[in-house]
Amino acid sequence: MQLETSSPEETEAVAARLARELRPGDLVTVSGELGSGKTTFVRGAARALGVTQAVTSPTFTIGHRYRGSAGDVSHIDLYRFAEVSNAEWGDLEPYFEDAVVFLEWPEAAGDELPPPRAAVRLRHRDGDRRLISVEQEHVDPRL
Ligand code: ADP
Ligand code: MG
Repeated sequence: MQLETSSPEETEAVAARLARELRPGDLVTVSGELGSGKTTFVRGAARALGVTQAVTSPTFTIGHRYRGSAGDVSHIDLYRFAEVSNAEWGDLEPYFEDAVVFLEWPEAAGDELPPPRAAVRLRHRDGDRRLISVEQEHVDPRL
């Protein structure tokens, strides 16, 4: 699936639609260069999952874990990691337990990453336009 948005709100709405298909235990990777809208996408998805806290970029920590209406939502950002070490995976694991997980900069996670439920990629287009592609990798028979 591929589509274009022309505002952050539209990107959030696309994310909200995907979020409805997600359950705790699902991983969504969110790729794309700086400023392409990864965190904006995660914010829209988290809102749709009932997170009322402000969803901000994890900067001084590797991730945030929020309470949603039907389970927790984790947001991990591996921007500062060239490659995640085994010790660092120890820090990451709690974010994966019983939560829908959104992962920015998944490239750094390497082989340890569980198979994502969906892989999202954002690309800059002119001005506020962004191209969003969503690959549903593990389609859930419940849907
Ligand atoms: P990233 O996490 O990829 O670095 P952010 O979501 O933090 O990106 O920032 C994206 C920036 O681009 C925000 O300032 C947002 O308001 C702006 N923006 C403009 N148009 C869009 C759009 N169509 N989709 C998402 N963000 C957009
Ligand atoms: Mg970000």
